[in-house]
Amino acid sequence: MREAEDLKSAADEAARFWRERLSKKFPSFEKGFDEEGLIDGVKKAGDKGEAVSPAEVLSRAAVVNLASRASNCSEEELHLRRLAALTMDLSQQEPLRSFLRSNIPGAIERISRVRSLLAEPRGEAYLVVCAAKGIKSYIFETPGLNEIRGASTLLDELVEELAGKAAESIGPEAVLRCAASTVELLAPSPYFDDQLSWADLFKRRAYEKLKYVQVAAASQKARIADLIERFSRTLGKAHLAMEADRFYDELPLLETLPFEQRCALCRTRPAERWETIRGEETAVCEACFVKFVRGRSERRSKLGEALELVGLTPEAIGVEGETAEQCTADLISDMIPKGVRRRLMAVAYGDGNNFGAALKGMRTIADYLSWSFRVSQTVKLAASIALARSTQIGARSMGWLPGKTGPKLKKLPFQILALGGDDLSLICWGRIGLHFCETFLRLTDMEFAPQYAFSLGMLICDEKTPVRRAVEFAEGELLKWAKRAFRGMRPERRRGTMTFLLADSPERIPPDLEGFRERMFSIGSSLKTYMTLRPFTADELRFLLEKADELREHRGRLYRLAQAFIASRSALVGALHYAYQKGRTIEKGFFETLEGPNGAGSWEEIFRIKFLPIHKLDRPPFGEGEGKGIYCPVWDLVEICKAME
Ligand SMILES: [Zn+2]
Repeated sequence: MREAEDLKSAADEAARFWRERLSKKFPSFEKGFDEEGLIDGVKKAGDKGEAVSPAEVLSRAAVVNLASRASNCSEEELHLRRLAALTMDLSQQEPLRSFLRSNIPGAIERISRVRSLLAEPRGEAYLVVCAAKGIKSYIFETPGLNEIRGASTLLDELVEELAGKAAESIGPEAVLRCAASTVELLAPSPYFDDQLSWADLFKRRAYEKLKYVQVAAASQKARIADLIERFSRTLGKAHLAMEADRFYDELPLLETLPFEQRCALCRTRPAERWETIRGEETAVCEACFVKFVRGRSERRSKLGEALELVGLTPEAIGVEGETAEQCTADLISDMIPKGVRRRLMAVAYGDGNNFGAALKGMRTIADYLSWSFRVSQTVKLAASIALARSTQIGARSMGWLPGKTGPKLKKLPFQILALGGDDLSLICWGRIGLHFCETFLRLTDMEFAPQYAFSLGMLICDEKTPVRRAVEFAEGELLKWAKRAFRGMRPERRRGTMTFLLADSPERIPPDLEGFRERMFSIGSSLKTYMTLRPFTADELRFLLEKADELREHRGRLYRLAQAFIASRSALVGALHYAYQKGRTIEKGFFETLEGPNGAGSWEEIFRIKFLPIHKLDRPPFGEGEGKGIYCPVWDLVEICKAME
């Protein structure tokens, strides 16, 4: 027995080695620095290709694992076969060859057995899928940053715990996905132990740990041979079963009776206990209290992981403190440096386009493993680089110079709410939000475009705007707008898209986006002109950000120029004003800067126009549907300037 246990841990180690290799394979860019010394992503030097595909090895080990368990072989035999499957490609190479020969000779002897198992796998297995649903309402039902952070950490822990249990009891190769509140695993039976199924275990732990969160889970039975040959079909069925399960979750109905005290944090559920929160005795419900505690005592924060991934300390990005945890803001107002007049935060919500369709094309387990690692590694690294880079840009705007001055920011200007799978949601200081979007889209495009790409919606709003409302708007309206623009692009030209809206007070968040866009961004009737080119691609946004930065000195003139269009609601009057101003100005600096090229390109390269205040463009209004429109890009520059003020 002892020996079988050792064999098990050896096989587990080997499987973890291949998982590590697989995650190192992606993405195709890595951390670098630009000419100004700021962190950025750069294309990796040519990959020579790997002799052995880690995804193939892992998938093979999973099949051998399942097929062996289905045939009821002994523990010892099982782990020897797993070891054989995990080492056979390299078993002729030194020093592995000698190591295996003298320590685990049984593994080498099993190679031919493993080959025949793989050629003709018998038996059945299960694909178990579990996910937390309605994550957004769970995370954002409490307004405080600390509780939001706690909630998002609790969700991560829930899926990691289940994945950990599967890795322990079945083997690390059995875990196909563990990201974005979703776990997918291959299991020999739907049961975790004599009592509980994997699905029930997930639900029970969700309730014990998080209380009120909706979860769904299902396990799909399949012939092992089908898992190998037609994986996407089984995956599709499992997801359908899980979607169906969603409607049967049995959460207790929550109602606060008139005489009951409400929880001070969520203000919806009845209070269940008194706790000291921020120095005050507070009535709270169980669910909010665990979020509060978790947010407080986060061992490793998402921000810490992001900085670790790019190998930078807070100081290296212009923030005081040695660890990310030390300089994580507890309040949104702490993310915005003191002394900044316009107290804006930016709330971003993003996800991938066409990623669902990609899954349907996954024929094998190895394809799927590769894809899910590729997506999550790309998103994590792109977000981490974007976060570090935009923080540096923010610190620089406060006088920081990389390597030359001390830090200028007291707190990290970010809070990551969700990051994993193809989902992304975060809050940051308004000034740097657009820079984050630019870097994130540029890097994810490097990996995926044109077939797949990300879209982001960003609301830049007053720091006092309720987070939940801001997130709902960013996701429900802005992200959808950006995604429609992606779908409208010609397939070969597709790139990631983003759109933003600036609402400097909570009341300015429009109740309906479509009407608002028409009112705000279109002028004139005879010559209908659109005052925005949104949604933008990364290239377009980069160009405009740089342009806005160059025009910092001339902000007043830029506003007056835009005003001429907006106030008269006439493109003709606006154009006349432009020509008149340009003609009579002796000092041409402003117009030269506005019309000229910059480091990110020129109006011609980026938008295929010579700069004029109004222009007909082969671009559908608001990026939706078909057609051309007449555009004036001045207002976009004004809003970008305002966001960065
Ligand atoms: Zn509560």
